Amino acid sequence: MQTYLVGGAVRDKLLDYPVYDRDWVVVGATPEQMLKQGFRPVGKDFPVFIHPDSGEEYALARTERKSGKGYTGFLYHASPDVTLEEDLIRRDLTINAMAMTDDGTIIDPYHGQQDLQLKLLRHVSPAFSEDPLRVLRVARFLARYASLGFRIAPETLTLMQQLSHSDELGHLSTERVWQEFQRALGEASPQQFLITLMQTDALVKLFPELIPAMSDPQTLVAISQPIDSRVRFAILLRGALLNTPLEQRGQTIKTFCDQHRAPNAYRDLALQFCLQSDQLCHYSQLDAGERLALIRNLDLLRRDEHLSLLLQGCAVICNNTDAVEQQLPLLLEALRQIDPKALMSQGFKGKALGEAIYRAQLAVCQQQIDGVLSCNNPSH
Ligand code: ATP
Repeated sequence: MQTYLVGGAVRDKLLDYPVYDRDWVVVGATPEQMLKQGFRPVGKDFPVFIHPDSGEEYALARTERKSGKGYTGFLYHASPDVTLEEDLIRRDLTINAMAMTDDGTIIDPYHGQQDLQLKLLRHVSPAFSEDPLRVLRVARFLARYASLGFRIAPETLTLMQQLSHSDELGHLSTERVWQEFQRALGEASPQQFLITLMQTDALVKLFPELIPAMSDPQTLVAISQPIDSRVRFAILLRGALLNTPLEQRGQTIKTFCDQHRAPNAYRDLALQFCLQSDQLCHYSQLDAGERLALIRNLDLLRRDEHLSLLLQGCAVICNNTDAVEQQLPLLLEALRQIDPKALMSQGFKGKALGEAIYRAQLAVCQQQIDGVLSCNNPSH
């Protein structure tokens, strides 16, 4: 029985990237032997075990055979006579198909080290075409490594195009597509993920709504900045909807997020950003009522975490960001100092109290425009 570190951990060690997840392959063992050694079994389709101390995943070496559509349509065969090379050949890219022994020796039957040096994302075998998820994975790896100079091997790009033109992409589950998309949004160059999907004709099948954003250079540059992936998502949708009338944008975003099962944190920020980004970018030209309406529409008095995300978005799409970046937090701080209890002690209640708060808030906004606002000088 032999144990090898495999996949992303070996790749990232060789690239000098931090390794977060370690996956292991065990050759020459039976499930019974693993259980005897104290491993806990997981996985229904094939034998994977969890190490009792480290909690890391150990999979028995296996081969796979395509048995149906999509990325789940595989039959697996794990047995003690499956070799390491047989296990590695079913992996997507040569740089993901290397193994390492305990003493640090690299086992590299498909020339992953050479491709690391050539900076090439290259498929391991023609069986690459059996799993449509690989189109998304390769695009995502490009988004991660493009800044190091990596590119996709032309022959791999051709296979990705063929996969996109087949009906295989349609068999991916919504959850897996979103998972890859969200991960790509967190990579160093998310625009490369989208450009690759566009080049392989996968974008039109998976995210047709995003195609208009691809011809807006400002959007592509903006999402490549080092910002939160939720902000990148919001900027991307904003770019996709630039030619959509303002009053239709909200519904379009909701439909997009429902279809792709985007989490609420993505959906809410995208809605706010797409609907309010023009106002945000022209903050210094807004009058007091417009400033207050902006704060209320963005729900900023209650949702603290949104402010920094919105400001990140403005920083990359507005020309003059100083105004909003400096003034909006200052205004919020002052608005939060308006104390309803103080107004109540002056006898305001019910509707009159609401109106008094509104007037106080408006006065604070006006103070900012007049240049007399400071956080220690609330209007009341
Ligand atoms: P990441 O750093 O994004 O986690 P990773 O390479 O570790 O990258 P995992 O999804 O954890 O990615 O997969 C571990 C390994 O399993 C990969 O390196 C690859 O060898 C193999 N693998 C995973 N998914 C596929 C797939 N759909 N097709 C082929 N091989 C795959």
